Amino acid sequence: MQNLKTRKEPVIFNTNMPIIRVHDKNFEPYLSAASIQEKIDGIAEKLNADYAGKNPLFIAILNGSFMFASDLFKKISIEAEICFIKLASYKGTKSSGHVITAIGLDTDIIGRHVIIIEDIVDTGKTLSEFLPQLLHQQPASLKIVALLHKPAATVFPITIDYLGFSIPDKFVLGYGLDYNGLGRNIEEIYQLVD
Ligand code: 5GP
Repeated sequence: MQNLKTRKEPVIFNTNMPIIRVHDKNFEPYLSAASIQEKIDGIAEKLNADYAGKNPLFIAILNGSFMFASDLFKKISIEAEICFIKLASYKGTKSSGHVITAIGLDTDIIGRHVIIIEDIVDTGKTLSEFLPQLLHQQPASLKIVALLHKPAATVFPITIDYLGFSIPDKFVLGYGLDYNGLGRNIEEIYQLVD
């Protein structure tokens, strides 16, 4: 058994956990609940140090980030606020293509230290469209915390300031992430079996 604290790569656990079937696809265990919690502890420690006295505003992007946001926010020991938004994509004019709007952002972010909580950054499209809208509202600072990042899938480069795991470009589910509505309630993260 490797020591989780010294391990740099995602923890691929190959214990007795079975392959699971969700809808028409098979998924194998990939990140254990313990490794996720350990990573969250590390991220929270950094955030607590970096934002002490700044009363940051966390903005969690639903649905996928609800579990990560909840576990992370429990470990934030400094004064901080959190709100939850949903991003909706609709077809704009021909030239603008799809436009992303935030539903539920009822807190004024002007002059605030804002930290976006995202479950997974895949192509980077969602955040690359949403971040300029937030910056337009003149926060004091704007940083990203993401549990997962697929570097090989990047189309729109995004700077992730606080990252859990870099993972391969394979579909994952569990820990808030779904496959066609199912799988969000799994404590671990599973990866699609080819
Ligand atoms: P992006 O705009 O970066 O391409 O995609 C971000 C969103 O796509 C995530 O917030 C998530 O909802 C969804 N997504 C991307 N990759 C995966 C994945 O492997 N599993 C699941 N369940 N959702 C994903």
